[in-house]
Amino acid sequence: MLKVLFPNGLKKAFTLSYDDGCYDDIRLMGIMSSLGIKGTFNISSGLTRPEGSKPEGPWPRMTPSEIENYKKEGIEVAVHGETHRDFTKISEPELVYEIMSDKAAIERRFETVVRGAAYPYGSFNDLSVEILRRCGIKYCRTVWSDHSMNMPADWLRLRPTAHHNDPELEAIADKFVSEDPKDLRMLYIWGHTPEFNRDGKWDMFAGLLEKCARRLDVWYATNIEICEYDLASKKLEYSAGGEWVYNPTAKEIWLEKPSGRPWEMKTEAVSVKPGETVRV
Ligand SMILES: [Zn+2]
Repeated sequence: MLKVLFPNGLKKAFTLSYDDGCYDDIRLMGIMSSLGIKGTFNISSGLTRPEGSKPEGPWPRMTPSEIENYKKEGIEVAVHGETHRDFTKISEPELVYEIMSDKAAIERRFETVVRGAAYPYGSFNDLSVEILRRCGIKYCRTVWSDHSMNMPADWLRLRPTAHHNDPELEAIADKFVSEDPKDLRMLYIWGHTPEFNRDGKWDMFAGLLEKCARRLDVWYATNIEICEYDLASKKLEYSAGGEWVYNPTAKEIWLEKPSGRPWEMKTEAVSVKPGETVRV
């Protein structure tokens, strides 16, 4: 088996994940689109602010009409439970409803098929993981930041790299931008936009995004794009001798293969298009 690369032969991916469907997401999306950064917003569609009300208080959410702001290139909207109930503290039927009613509301609004989620309060157990899987959810983000930029082992127990307030984040981001990694790296930052108001950290975070943005060696993607690329790459099929690889998926997958003479230890990126069999 060959090493998997991100689209266009890249080794680094950058993504954001912001929760609760807050009014200040509009400001963050403005910064993101000016920098070409993509990301995911996890919304509780049953907890909107009344139409016509002002976005006041410490945690203002979107009104139903303001939710239109998420209809943007490079923005994924994902499930966060219709009314933000703790997935580990409700009955199984309530849990199914909490997930599916939010999923259906977002799908109707955005005319899409939602496959992503984040756990309300970061709270989950084996049952909620299994129910999410049966509900067609491919990944669900926890709040267990582990400072790792490795690709996740379990997308339904997805660990972010860091919260935006994490004191280690600046150093992690420096490493991310300067490193020429051997293996795939994903810098995954999460949080809630009202925290930027509360903590006076809009400028800090805009600066951090600026540092990570517009890099030719980074794939800027939403959560689901990275998740589904990773899942598709695991479906590649190899010939018994390893000389051929077949791509049964609908995604173009990039691989790293040796090139030149063996002692030169050189590699090159090769892509396998959907349905294609390629000699590697
Ligand atoms: Zn939340």
